[in-house]
Amino acid sequence: MIKRRRISITGRVQGVGFRPAVYRIARSLELSGLVYNDTKGVTVELQGEAEKILEFMALLQSDADKPPLAIITSCDAVDIPVIESETEFVIETSDSHGAPLSQVTADIATCRDCLAEMADKDDFRYRYPFINCTNCGPRYSIVKTIPYDRPNTTMSVFEMCGKCAAQYKDVNDRRFHAQPVACAACGPQIRLTDSTGKEIASQTEKVIAEAARLLLAGKIVAIKGIGGFHLAADALNSRAVQRLRRRKKRDHKPFAMMTDSIERIKEYAIVNSAAGRLLSSPQSPIVLLGQKPDSPIAPSVAEGVDTYGFMLCYAPLHYLLFAQNIKVLVMTSGNISDEPLICKNEEAIEKLGGVADAFLMHDREIYRQVDDSILHFVEGQPAFLRRARGYVPTPILMKNSCRRDIFAAGADLKNTFCFARQNQLICSEHIGDLEDAEVYHHYIDSVEHLQGLFEVVPEIVACDLHPGYLSTRHARSIPDVKIVQVQHHWAHIASVLVEHDLEGPVIGLAADGTGYGTDGAIWGCECLIASLEKFERFGHLSYYSLAGGDKASKEPLRPVLSLQKKAYGSKFTLEKFDWLLRRIEPDNNKLQIVSEQLEKGVNCVETSSLGRVFDAVAAMLGLGSYNHFDAQLPMALEAIIAGGVEEHYGLELINTAEKPLQLDLGKMIRQIIDDIQNGRPPAAISAKFHNTIAAALLETAIAARESTKLNTVALSGGVFCNRYLANRLIKLLKKAGFSVLFNRYVPSNDGGISLGQAAVAVRLIGGDPSLPL
Ligand SMILES: [Zn+2]
Ligand SMILES: [Zn+2]
Repeated sequence: MIKRRRISITGRVQGVGFRPAVYRIARSLELSGLVYNDTKGVTVELQGEAEKILEFMALLQSDADKPPLAIITSCDAVDIPVIESETEFVIETSDSHGAPLSQVTADIATCRDCLAEMADKDDFRYRYPFINCTNCGPRYSIVKTIPYDRPNTTMSVFEMCGKCAAQYKDVNDRRFHAQPVACAACGPQIRLTDSTGKEIASQTEKVIAEAARLLLAGKIVAIKGIGGFHLAADALNSRAVQRLRRRKKRDHKPFAMMTDSIERIKEYAIVNSAAGRLLSSPQSPIVLLGQKPDSPIAPSVAEGVDTYGFMLCYAPLHYLLFAQNIKVLVMTSGNISDEPLICKNEEAIEKLGGVADAFLMHDREIYRQVDDSILHFVEGQPAFLRRARGYVPTPILMKNSCRRDIFAAGADLKNTFCFARQNQLICSEHIGDLEDAEVYHHYIDSVEHLQGLFEVVPEIVACDLHPGYLSTRHARSIPDVKIVQVQHHWAHIASVLVEHDLEGPVIGLAADGTGYGTDGAIWGCECLIASLEKFERFGHLSYYSLAGGDKASKEPLRPVLSLQKKAYGSKFTLEKFDWLLRRIEPDNNKLQIVSEQLEKGVNCVETSSLGRVFDAVAAMLGLGSYNHFDAQLPMALEAIIAGGVEEHYGLELINTAEKPLQLDLGKMIRQIIDDIQNGRPPAAISAKFHNTIAAALLETAIAARESTKLNTVALSGGVFCNRYLANRLIKLLKKAGFSVLFNRYVPSNDGGISLGQAAVAVRLIGGDPSLPL
């Protein structure tokens, strides 16, 4: 019996070699019909024996035949009338079925097939540093504009040779329509220069050998990769790593490392099977792994933390380099301090000439700089700390469609921004901290570029409540749009809701550094009864004063003094706590000034920030008196936690009818100071402190449940980048019968804010075109 069926497939099915795979399977089963991309995904019409059509469905979803990067989320089939005259199966490439939603996919690590070819002496791409195919290689980083075709990428300057062109045109080839396809005869080439850009070598084998020799001799080499330059140094060579720190002006922040195999990483760090899978995934992110004791990695690679950030080689060039006896390299972003990643050759020499001894470059232009993504594990699940290469611009899908395009401006720290279009939420890669002028310019340019790339024309703009945020100011300067301001911690919780395709309400626990509140105070540790439509503040950390504005996030002395004054009231004097304060601030004058500031309320702001409490406790335990980078002190505090401690300090929940529930830490602060005075080890105090915060958040959630009868808790906020706290709290909540949601697709830190803002805007006004703007 001959039948004809129309199958609509959604998921990640565009730009991943899906149509050729459909074509190959249909042909092998002697089915006729057609396949095309449309606005929702891919549509296939199949005609032939009914069993063959069933077989097609099975093969398409089998690991052997499904394109490696494809993800099928739904598959709907209907019978349609047979077309008698049809004999062939064809791929329709025209746009007559509506423009595909997002034609640009993420940059993907070199696949196994390409690695095998690169190692094959008889292959014409033997040892070619830019080998790629439909299943791997650069995408997002090389696209200038749409449609995603070679002339619109930075590959346009390389004319394909006959052999490459034949593969590109052959629907049965792995390189069918692989836009960056190239070989040594027609494609990009590498070269090695000194720190001034003067050429040292240009022949591939010489370049690789000399770059490796320099690295093994302790030199710093800037290596141009997929999303930008890395600064590389031998991670086993202390002097090389220290030199890199000095020259890069990066005193403390841990460096990421690269190796070429999981087995190698296991020499230095603990890799379980889930971490192994994530490391070797097509996205190839940096994964934080527990350090092995007595590891030979230079101590200055990662001081004050108990993890290493590792990634595997993800570009062919990396593999060629590591084949030269290199074991492990520091591979840190090619920039100076926190400026945007450098991706252009001339700019690299100009800005990194004082850092790198040599440049391993190539002539394939990187159009968009994309940092490496960073993940760790929370309750056994991968969780983002930074979302960029490999993941961006993969959209997060919503159940409901948005009828008007939305731009969400994000937060000022760890900025990302987000577009909502139809049923897609497209988040940008990590942009950085907007207070840096260069980062801000990059932000403005990126918003414009990506708006074009995704064909978004925003009618609605979502942003933070903070009037001083640069992102808010930018949003407010956009003409003829409807502005939706979303409170920071509501956006955090909304990001979790939309990731799980939920509307709420839920009990939202935001454990965070700082975010502007509806009362003008700086909120941070919040229990919100939140949906995508609205939120109510159920409880929060009781307010304490922070003196000195932005300085408070760098100088823990400020929260220390404030928390002590609040905990001891009139019993507090500087003299009495001199023994403790001295270790944080030896300058008596400064102590006096900050103390008086707090006393008189000069340049002070009320806050419920939890991040600053972590800073304060770390400083009281002698772990440092300055945050050189974001969360340095909290990370140090987490790193020293003693295992097996179950106790916690006292906590007080103040529940009154007229005000949100107040969580008071005064008792805990007094007990911590007693423990320090009694000589209890910092490791035990740190554990008890973390346990107290987890217990306090649990108690808050229980109080919220009693009051609202809700049983689902959503966790978000930067403090949940703390693994110990997140793991412990999730366990406690589950034990208490809660169902617990955590961020899956975006970071729980401020990198996730734009997604939450977009989700709220979609819910409030994006869905209904009849609502007036
Ligand atoms: Zn490949
Ligand atoms: Zn070629």
